[in-house]
Amino acid sequence: MDMGQNSPEVVTAIQAAIKASALCRRIRMDLVGGESILKSDRSPVSIADYGSQAIICKLIRERFPNDAIVAEEDSKELRRPDHSKILEQVTTYVNAFIPTSSSKEVCSWIDFSSDAITDRFWALDPIDGTKGFLRGDQYAIALALIENGVVTLGILACPNLYVDIDHPFGEKGCLFVALKGKGSIQMDSHGGSQRAISVSKVKNPSEATITESVEADHADHLTHRRLAERLNISRPSVRMDSQAKYGILARGEVTLYLRVPSPAEPGYKENIWDHAAGSIIAEEAGGKVTDVLGRPLDFSSGIKMIKNDGILVSNGILHDMVLKALEM
Ligand code: AMP
Ligand code: MG
Repeated sequence: MDMGQNSPEVVTAIQAAIKASALCRRIRMDLVGGESILKSDRSPVSIADYGSQAIICKLIRERFPNDAIVAEEDSKELRRPDHSKILEQVTTYVNAFIPTSSSKEVCSWIDFSSDAITDRFWALDPIDGTKGFLRGDQYAIALALIENGVVTLGILACPNLYVDIDHPFGEKGCLFVALKGKGSIQMDSHGGSQRAISVSKVKNPSEATITESVEADHADHLTHRRLAERLNISRPSVRMDSQAKYGILARGEVTLYLRVPSPAEPGYKENIWDHAAGSIIAEEAGGKVTDVLGRPLDFSSGIKMIKNDGILVSNGILHDMVLKALEM
């Protein structure tokens, strides 16, 4: 399949995501083990966040020195003397993937990130779904290239996502890649076993499945349930952290991804790095992505998507029907 996979952007982004994803998996195994540590020490997620961002920023900047990178972290906290142990750990993990890197270099790579929304820039969430990471559930490394306000390339690494819904306890680790106009593919966590993916063909909403956040603060579960009742959707919704939700919709496992703003934080505006990669993966697989009022997602106004409220992703076929039901 010719997907433009040999373009330097695709090759570099995939390599970076594979390394970052391996780093996150290793940190999760070493520092958290099998348990969930939600209430205690958040340092494993900080170490993974910083390490993932350092690796990806370094590899992108090295190959594309003129591109801006807009990512979630900076190294200010990490440089504090009382955080020296964390910095040491981040550096040790990064070294496993980029040998002989020093703490100083690691900080400087993290700080390649800026808030410059330029004509061509990369948006990065080094770990999306931190609560899922800590709980031992889903999380993602999300990287997207945005050119003139349009997402042209999206990579989503989901280290803990089952490869095949028919074997939920089988192989884990998926890499989703989409290139504008070229479709979406899924690979394993090493970049092998590529296959084209597409959204479900469900026409009747009663056969649809919804995916939504695990965290009630991130989306309005009650409104989602009412919408499901209105549309005769009886299947239980799939609650999942991170942009892995876009991945399972893109491969046809669920039909709708609802993200009605939570009453816990009225007026919340989404971050570009939380949706850029996922949205192109869903669209290129045949899906449709808008906000909950049917407006296209805007990636050109800043880090916050100030022109949008919530998110609605569908297989395309059901989109207008859901938008109408949301108006009621
Ligand atoms: P999810 O795993 O889909 O629940 O989304 C995780 C993302 O939700 C994080 O990366 C945060 O940036 C984002 N987030 C934080 N607070 C809110 C909120 N009040 N509403 C929607 N998203 C939020
Ligand atoms: Mg995020």
